[in-house]
Amino acid sequence: TLHETALLGPVPAASPAAGATPAGLETRGVSAWFGDHKVLERVSLSMAPGSVTALIGPSGCGKSTYLRILNRMHEMVRGAALAGEVLLGGQDVYDPAARPADVRKRIGMVFQKPNPFPAMTVYENVASGLRLAGIKGVDKDEVVEDALRRAGLWNEVQGRLRSPGGALSGGQQQRLCIARSLAVSPDVLLMDEPCSALDPTSTRRIEETIAQLEQQVTIVIVTHNMQQAARVSRHCAFFLAGEDQPGRVVEAGPTEQIFEHPVDPRTADYVHGRF
Ligand code: ADP
Ligand code: MG
Repeated sequence: TLHETALLGPVPAASPAAGATPAGLETRGVSAWFGDHKVLERVSLSMAPGSVTALIGPSGCGKSTYLRILNRMHEMVRGAALAGEVLLGGQDVYDPAARPADVRKRIGMVFQKPNPFPAMTVYENVASGLRLAGIKGVDKDEVVEDALRRAGLWNEVQGRLRSPGGALSGGQQQRLCIARSLAVSPDVLLMDEPCSALDPTSTRRIEETIAQLEQQVTIVIVTHNMQQAARVSRHCAFFLAGEDQPGRVVEAGPTEQIFEHPVDPRTADYVHGRF
């Protein structure tokens, strides 16, 4: 039978100061629709502060939709509807008093295709995160360097801060996007197949960056690469949609359990590449 398992609780009640433990994320009974088409069915997951959670499952089972729900991008999609609760550090992300822009400041997103501003310099790409988030009164040079260091890119670009972002390699552009997200000190970083467009070496760099960020940022990564899920995550959630059935979490738990001792035979089939 299908079951939904909480990964790890509990989440702190309030947002921490910069440098302290980031807030965790939790969804309770989240369902989603596009018009009449139900695409997610009661997804309840808890992503502990500073943990790395991998979302796995075949295409079309709602992983990207779930990520967009987490940072309120879902409500920007025409015809999109939502039920259930999303909590960041115990606070309702969909509280009418919480502004979507403030939510997205605390929950950054990186996409499959690196999307830095190509004509903007490396420096300004990272600093643009601050401007978009309305953050003023910080030492920009310091923030940019710190974000680039945390993204594992500083050594490669410290002499190229005035080069256009578009002049970097694909893998560097992806780490630049990570740095742009990190500049505003988010609690959560959502990554939607961040390595799918990258070569193995660049992929490895991103994985190293994720490992460095563990504990500092709560990370949720969608990946089709099972080795990658096993390498980077501590917890895994396996999503599956049926024919004419919305996506659900078939099984969630510690990554080792999902890979070594899955409870559901469909999980075993999926992680071993049998469908
Ligand atoms: P995944 O990321 O797991 O491949 P998605 O979240 O992209 O899955 O898609 C889940 C389902 O929602 C699919 O059936 C897809 O066609 C549908 N869907 C995604 N985005 C939209 C949209 N903007 N409008 C209508 N349907 C959508
Ligand atoms: Mg997707």
